[in-house]
Amino acid sequence: MQHEKILVVGANGQIGTVLLASLRSHYGEANVIASDIRQPAEAMPNFVPLDALNRHTMSSVVRENGITQIYMLAAILSAKGEQNPLQTWDINMTCLFNALEVCREFKVKKLFYPSTIAVFGPDTPRVLTPQNTIRNPTTVYGISKVAGENWCNYYHLRYGLDVRSVRYPGIIGYQSLPGGGTTDYAVDIFHQALDQQKYTSFLSADTALPMMYMDDAIRATIELMDAPAEQIRIRSSYNLAGMSFTPAQIAEEIRQHIPNFEMSYAPDFRQAIAESWPASIDDAAARTDWGWQHRFDLPNMVADMLAHLG
Ligand code: NAD
Repeated sequence: MQHEKILVVGANGQIGTVLLASLRSHYGEANVIASDIRQPAEAMPNFVPLDALNRHTMSSVVRENGITQIYMLAAILSAKGEQNPLQTWDINMTCLFNALEVCREFKVKKLFYPSTIAVFGPDTPRVLTPQNTIRNPTTVYGISKVAGENWCNYYHLRYGLDVRSVRYPGIIGYQSLPGGGTTDYAVDIFHQALDQQKYTSFLSADTALPMMYMDDAIRATIELMDAPAEQIRIRSSYNLAGMSFTPAQIAEEIRQHIPNFEMSYAPDFRQAIAESWPASIDDAAARTDWGWQHRFDLPNMVADMLAHLG
């Protein structure tokens, strides 16, 4: 096996923080370079400051370190993205284009690009949303990720780039805080439940959304990237599922551990975004092609979150 040198772009975010640790235990700390536009909260070995909008700097980091794989995580997420739509489009697309071009130019072997359930929209079948279906998103974030998936597929077809992608559902973990998505409530709720025994949800009680525990999301990413190339039949992005639940259901599950926990509801602009997304996902292609299997459902996710944060 060729010696791998990995660059994680956007390593200080909710997913990057945990993915970085996992990649470092998989490949060795010296072989995984962390980068982000923000400095890490604490001094971190093998960190380089990198604005992914700057292709020149990205090229230098890749060339000087002999990078063989890039994980392009930098993006503006769904809720935050609506504050400045054109800037969100610019950032999300330019970061991806720079990664695609740097991979092409320096013959980087593999690129990971996270997509999202936000590629779907109100015209999409909401229950067990199929792999290939209508993708007419109503957020700028979703529009950028649909385009991003198609560009990844294009670079695979046109240049043979080994690009791999999953459509993450809302990601829930104790290790890091979320960065401005519509599913952030499902992380915030644990911190508030433990601090104040109450939480006000910005989504209504019965809004079901696809979600996944961080441990499953990281394992899916590593398993996808480790799979033999011939097993990866989809080069846009794979549907990926773990669990689906509503705010009322997660509140009820938290009450199994914190009986006096109180939930109230004050839906805001994120309600409309959530209603345009699937309630559950059909990820049969990921299960067939590269053997994906989730491990966490709602009860064991809630128990694990509270055990770590409590
Ligand atoms: P996040 O907002 O927590 O982290 C993104 C990181 O990218 C931040 O640390 C930020 O500083 C960095 N960044 C932003 N602009 C940058 C730039 N120009 N150059 C370098 N770094 C820059 O996001 P996350 O939740 O960790 O998401 C990571 C990826 O996964 C994103 O592409 C997102 O679309 C995707 N995703 C996340 C979720 C989720 O629930 N968290 C769900 C679906 C898809």
